[in-house]
Amino acid sequence: MGWLGLDDTDSLEQGCTTYTFHLLLEGLPDSVQISTPKLVRLWPFAQQRTRGNAAVAVELKTEDEEQLLAYLETFWKQNIVPLAGRLSESNHDVRQQYPSDPGMVWFSSDRPDETFYAASVRQEVQLSDVPSATRAWGGQGRIGATAAVSWRERQPTWEAIVWRRVERHGQNERLVCDSTLERIDQLPSTFLSRDPRKGTSLVAPRGPCPVLFGVRARDFTTAQYAGLELRNAEQTEDSIGMRVFVTNQATDDHLSEPVQTTVLSSEILNRGSTCIVTENGQWMAFEESGPIKRLAQWFKPGDVIEGNGLSPEAGVLHLEKLRLISSVPSRERPMCIKCRVRMKSMGSGQGCRCPKCKDRTDDVWNEVARIPPFTSWVQPPHGSRRHLAKPLEW
Ligand SMILES: [Zn+2]
Repeated sequence: MGWLGLDDTDSLEQGCTTYTFHLLLEGLPDSVQISTPKLVRLWPFAQQRTRGNAAVAVELKTEDEEQLLAYLETFWKQNIVPLAGRLSESNHDVRQQYPSDPGMVWFSSDRPDETFYAASVRQEVQLSDVPSATRAWGGQGRIGATAAVSWRERQPTWEAIVWRRVERHGQNERLVCDSTLERIDQLPSTFLSRDPRKGTSLVAPRGPCPVLFGVRARDFTTAQYAGLELRNAEQTEDSIGMRVFVTNQATDDHLSEPVQTTVLSSEILNRGSTCIVTENGQWMAFEESGPIKRLAQWFKPGDVIEGNGLSPEAGVLHLEKLRLISSVPSRERPMCIKCRVRMKSMGSGQGCRCPKCKDRTDDVWNEVARIPPFTSWVQPPHGSRRHLAKPLEW
């Protein structure tokens, strides 16, 4: 018994670590027993991450480890080494591209404990920090491969991934039956299949990679059922294989405990992105974060708020969850009861006066409670959430 991990085989033409892994599993010697493969999302800001920043792993049982290792050696040389050094293509990503640097690891009998996974999902990890494997191949990808091996499943989710025919790889458009997808989306256990506001599909990736679609569910049986239904639907294009992965998607594993703080100031930036300066550093609410951005824009200095997210750099939090704890009242000049107009300040310490009838009052301000746009936790809309983000409804 042992654990196999693989990462960073994405590239322009062949893209997608899940597909390489599928081919590897398909070719395993008959004597090897395969458990449910794992798809593990990692630290989204990793400097040399691949597009989806996902790594894969599987538990394998065999009486003949030598035969298995010989197979892995051959597969590595023939199918993965040629992928190294390629750049992955992305239209919606301007960050610096790193050539893919695949890694594969085999842990015989014992695997690293969960601490390595926990670090890899919450912060940048260096190659020198990777626990040593029984056998290891390649470079940078060993980080994700080892993290995937060391992941322990706690309230995981499942994703049925279907790959399209080889001659369709490299093309951007995909044919996935929309009416079947609509039906699958209604199943209580599936999630993030369609955007409920726009009615658009969330199961098919964009771009040239081999994945036709991936259907997510909160249990294995539903993921498998939904995957097969969608794969076999008449209006879905032909495919070459399907596997159900157990995943850390929608687990919030990337987040620590939420932080409570007080707003010091805030500034609305480009396209509504909002920077809140708090007693605990800068909290960023980005344009695409929807309700988070709207709530952030409403905050005033003195409001007490609670938030959670990731810090790509010290002192900056990218908000993924946000709520108001208590708000400071707004202040208004008193009204003149007779004229129903707002009074004006007479200057420091001299009260207010009605501009019409000249009546006076010693009151300087009236305090009025502000009405927030949301009174409980908010999250980004479906299409803008991280794979790792657990929906608030759960
Ligand atoms: Zn008046």
